[in-house]
Amino acid sequence: TQRIASRVANIKPSPSSSAADRANELRQQGRDIISLVVGEPDFDTPSNVGKAAWEAIQRGETRYTANSGSQAMRQAIKSKLERENNLHYNENEIVVTNGAKAAIFTAFLATIEAGDEVVIPAPYWVSYPDMVIACEGTPVIAQCSEAEGFKLTAERLRSVLTDKTRWLIINSPSNPTGASYHHDDYVALAEVLADYPDVLIMTDDIYEHIRYDNQENVHLLNAAPQLKDQTVLINGVSKTYAMTGWRIGFAVGPFYLIDAFQKLQSQSAGNACSVSQAAAIEAYNGDQSFVKTSQAVYQQRRNDTLALINNIDGLHCSPPDGAFYLYVGCEKLIGMQTEDGTVLETDNDLVLYLLEKANVAVVAGSAYGLSPYFRMSIATSQTQLHTACERITTALAKLK
Ligand code: PLP
Repeated sequence: TQRIASRVANIKPSPSSSAADRANELRQQGRDIISLVVGEPDFDTPSNVGKAAWEAIQRGETRYTANSGSQAMRQAIKSKLERENNLHYNENEIVVTNGAKAAIFTAFLATIEAGDEVVIPAPYWVSYPDMVIACEGTPVIAQCSEAEGFKLTAERLRSVLTDKTRWLIINSPSNPTGASYHHDDYVALAEVLADYPDVLIMTDDIYEHIRYDNQENVHLLNAAPQLKDQTVLINGVSKTYAMTGWRIGFAVGPFYLIDAFQKLQSQSAGNACSVSQAAAIEAYNGDQSFVKTSQAVYQQRRNDTLALINNIDGLHCSPPDGAFYLYVGCEKLIGMQTEDGTVLETDNDLVLYLLEKANVAVVAGSAYGLSPYFRMSIATSQTQLHTACERITTALAKLK
């Protein structure tokens, strides 16, 4: 018999990867699909970064590095945290990983016992609940409504914390809503957390540099430094420097946790790619102009696409503070009928309808824990975004 472990049987593949696969399949059949599915910058990696990788290869930096990352890489992360976040860590409190994704997974694997609860504010990044399940933990979803800015409030946090809570996850700016926590939001959450010194807090800061309207980049630990001993920061170069394929992320936190993490990594993935580390060092230490110029492009796309979406009958979207997605509300369309008489009962039905009739691929809100919404990525050209909105308008006008 073909047996797999229950920890795998109990999880689902990433819904955004499945949607991307479906869009590609249709493309191969010759359909002109605009895919607004994946969450990755459409820019090329800055050339100084690529050059640093090439130079590393020529210098022969093609061997194993220290398991927790080369010293130069950890030093670059240490400086980045000081320069950009005003946070201070020792090199032995930093571990370099195969993307932020591996950092999150390994952090869970190193700390979660069967039945431990992990509080995940919804809408959430699709991978958190399944990673928790794969580690035999229990995801506890804390709903955060659009009226609350899609953010976890102190009252909601208090209502979901129990003596089994192991982790609270904070992802700011958020995938999929772009919601960003401000100083006062953090202070309010920290007041609740003061009663729970055993709860670990994971901040997923991967979108920290993609933020709009000149909003300040405040970290939980800037607002509540007393939480430092219970907090693990997750970040990486994927989104900020258009380096999704290089697979460099990191985890930073109290030594005992990073040490356990490091031990686990030494017996699993091992060190992150040496050449990619050399590239990431240049990303952090080198010229930062790419961060500014790409941010300006995202800002323009976000403003334009937001206006287009809010002009479409039946759709609405609150301005995201950051990240490169729009989380579009579609409750007015639920219950409507397509030309062939099919009733759109869920956001998933609407997403399928848009794929079939508008040739536009987006991801249903159900994947992120809050319906009826859909997520569209704006990490693609203005022309594509315009055409997509036109197609959506035409297809929705046909609903009865
Ligand atoms: N965290 C969030 C919220 C993300 O959206 C993503 C990527 O989509 C990741 C982490 C993973 O980033 P990486 O490519 O560094 O693994």
